[in-house]
This record gives sequence, structure tokens and C-alpha cells, in this order.
Amino acid sequence: MKFQVPRGTRDILPGEVERWQRLETRTHQTMAIYGYREVRTPIFEATELFVRSVGEATDIVRKELYTFEDRKGRSLTLRPEGTAPLVRAYIENAPVRAEIPARLYYMGPMFRYERPQAGRYRQFWQIGAELLGSAKPEADAEMIDLFRSILWDVGLKDVTVLLNSLGDSVCRPRYREAIRDYFTAHKEQLCGDCKERLDTNPLRILDCKVPSCAPVIAGAPNVLDSLCDPCAEHFGAVKRALDGLGIRHEAAPRLVRGLDYYTRTVFEIQVAGLGAQNAVGGGGRYDQLVKEFGGPDTPAIGFSIGMERLLLATVSSAAGTAFAPDACVVALEADAAIEAQELARRLRGQHEAPEDREPLRVVVDVAGRSANAQMKWASKTGARWAVFVPKGSDGYAVRDMALGKDEARQATQEGLRRWLLERRDRVEAQR
Ligand code: AMP
Repeated sequence: MKFQVPRGTRDILPGEVERWQRLETRTHQTMAIYGYREVRTPIFEATELFVRSVGEATDIVRKELYTFEDRKGRSLTLRPEGTAPLVRAYIENAPVRAEIPARLYYMGPMFRYERPQAGRYRQFWQIGAELLGSAKPEADAEMIDLFRSILWDVGLKDVTVLLNSLGDSVCRPRYREAIRDYFTAHKEQLCGDCKERLDTNPLRILDCKVPSCAPVIAGAPNVLDSLCDPCAEHFGAVKRALDGLGIRHEAAPRLVRGLDYYTRTVFEIQVAGLGAQNAVGGGGRYDQLVKEFGGPDTPAIGFSIGMERLLLATVSSAAGTAFAPDACVVALEADAAIEAQELARRLRGQHEAPEDREPLRVVVDVAGRSANAQMKWASKTGARWAVFVPKGSDGYAVRDMALGKDEARQATQEGLRRWLLERRDRVEAQR
């Protein structure tokens, strides 16, 4: 029997995974310097959590959830997004709420039963940040600045921030009605999905990508014209704050995004070179969600970035991700295998006093190869040096594999380790 990776998912293999690791490390650093702390929530939650937040009428809830029952008949769902779980955790854990505003982030896989295509998967990864406890436009600006910083840090500097406001509980219902009236008058020109949306979620029509809907959408009332004074004021203040931070932005009155919980600001960031799926991520304000989940009245804003898309956009700028050990330990005699393993362990130096340099990467044969085969394998790994377990007490022989040259023997394991570290520094300095 032969198994395959499930449709819409993929394995991230050595050679590529190093780019993921680098992105993860850099993102943790960026989050830390902005004062954000990580929260890791479970991969699955009560189904109701997503139905109530993302919204019953959204595509995500109607068609894309991975829902299952556990043995006690509870309905659980693999998380399709990270905000609802994080808000649940925020309400449930008082210490997380102690800091106001709370600056939190997450990183991990999400699950949506979508039609797979380039840049779109059924399991995909997101980086997300949430700022809970401020309704101020400065909070919106910080979110967008943090988002841009993460992109900047991986070399994506040519980005466009699309900005919109969906209004609040005062002006949004009015706009929704205006939109519904407008599209009802043009119902015959809408696609089948949009006809359905007229009843369930008319705002989503603005987001429809079917070409035949485009002319009708182009004539629809503009949300920015229908904002109440406080919402218009907030939107203006966000734009001024972004100007102050030197962040380029464009008003995008058709931007609605796929989740129901947004209020006021919504945004999306596009980067060049991603084709049709050019949105690397987006976010928005959700001033009602914490309260709707039974928590204290807490205005909040967040974003999420698709990691696959981010890596896709950086692929051309990324350097090679070759992985080679620094040294291979070679046992010349079959009964020296354990000694070789012990030497490798000492060279890695993990248990020695900490030093401020990266430990040596050392591999050793565990497949019972002959001395000859070990030498072949050592050169295949790309290791710079081969070191040999000595016969008797005549010190450790070292071979520079790149230069094909034998080096001076080292008398002790510690001496050998220091010699390798020093040589590696020298080689790196020459690069
Ligand atoms: P959303 O949570 O729908 O606002 O999406 C935020 C970001 O996550 C998008 O801009 C994409 O970069 C990424 N994303 C969403 N859905 C998928 C998917 N099915 N496959 C890959 N990336 C996705």
C-alpha cells in the first residue's frame, strides 16, 4: 500500500525548511522588539467558536471547516484562523489580560477546505498579531507598521497597504441596507453565489472575483461615503498616522475581507510578484468580538500573514539554503564506532561551558560503513573537515576536504574542537 500526502497539503523538506526556520526566527525577533509575546493555542477548538466569530454566512464557515466529533460527541473544528482562538485564550486567562493593551502573537498551521491552487492550500501557515485594549488610531498604525516590518525584514520592501473602513454598529447597518438595495436592483447581472449573498451577506458581493460581477460592483455605493462622523474621523486619523510613519497606503473602498467580525479599519498588504494571490496578508479591527465572547469590553485589532505566500514572494531574493556539517567523524576500525560517536558528541561541545559562538555541526556514521565508504559519505555530506578516530594514542588526524589536504594532528579532543572552531571562523571570514 502506497500513501500520498493529502490533497491540498504538502511536505516541507530539507533544503526548503531552512527558509521557514529563518522566517520563524526573524519573526520571533521582530515581534519581541515590538513588545509582542507569543501564545500557542490548540490546533482544534469547539466548532461554535468559529461559527460565532468568523460568521455563519462566510465561505469559511459554510464550506471550508474541517469539523469532526470526538468520542463524546463534541463538535470540534481544526482552526481555520488564529484570532478567535487567541481571543478565547485572552478571555480565559486573566494574566494575559493584565497588561493593557495586550500585545500578543501566534504562528502555526491553519486548515481550510479550499480548492487547492498555487499559493492556496488546505493546511497553510499563518503569522498573526493582535493588539487588545486600544481603540485608538495609533493602535491601527502600530499593527500595520509591525506587519510591514516583518515583510521588510525578509527583504520585501515594495509593498502596498490597501486601507478601508467598514464602519461600526451605527453606520454599517445603514451601508449594508444601501448595498442590498443597490444589488437587488441589479440582481440579474450577479453570479449565482452573489445572488445568494444578497440575503446572507451582501457586503461580500464587493469581494466577488467573478468577472461578470465586476461592472455592477464598480457602480456600488462607496462605504467611505457612508461612514458616520466618528468612523470617518478614525479613518482619517489612521491615514495621518501612517503618513507620519512613512507607510505608503491607498484607500480601497471595495476591500471587505472574508470574516464577519471586523469593524472600522480593514487592511490588506499586497506585494509584487505573487500573481493572482497577491495578498500576503491582511487584518482589521474587531471592537465587538471580545465582548461577544463574554469578555470585558475590549476594542482590538490584528492581522495575519500567510507564510507560504510570504516565502513565495521572497523566493527570488533568497540565498541558497545548503546545509552542510562542519565535520564528519570517521572511524578507521569497525570496533571504534562508539568511540567515534563519543568524539562527535565532544566536538559538538553542547555540554561544555557555553561560548558565544555557534557550536560545531558534527555528524558520524551510524550505518556500519567501512572506512572507505565513510570517506565517500563524508565528502558527499559537504563537510569541510573529516576527523579520524586515532589508532592508539597518536592524536587526531584532520583532513580539509575542500582543499584535499591533511592538517596537523591534534593531541586532545578539546584541542581538536578549538582548532575546528578557529578554522571555521577563518573560512567564514574569507567568504
Ligand atoms: P485570512 O485569514 O483569510 O485573512 O488570510 C490571511 C492570509 O493568509 C492571506 O492573505 C494568505 O496569505 C493566507 N491564506 C489564507 N488562506 C490561505 C490558503 N488556503 N492557503 C495559503 N495561504 C492562505
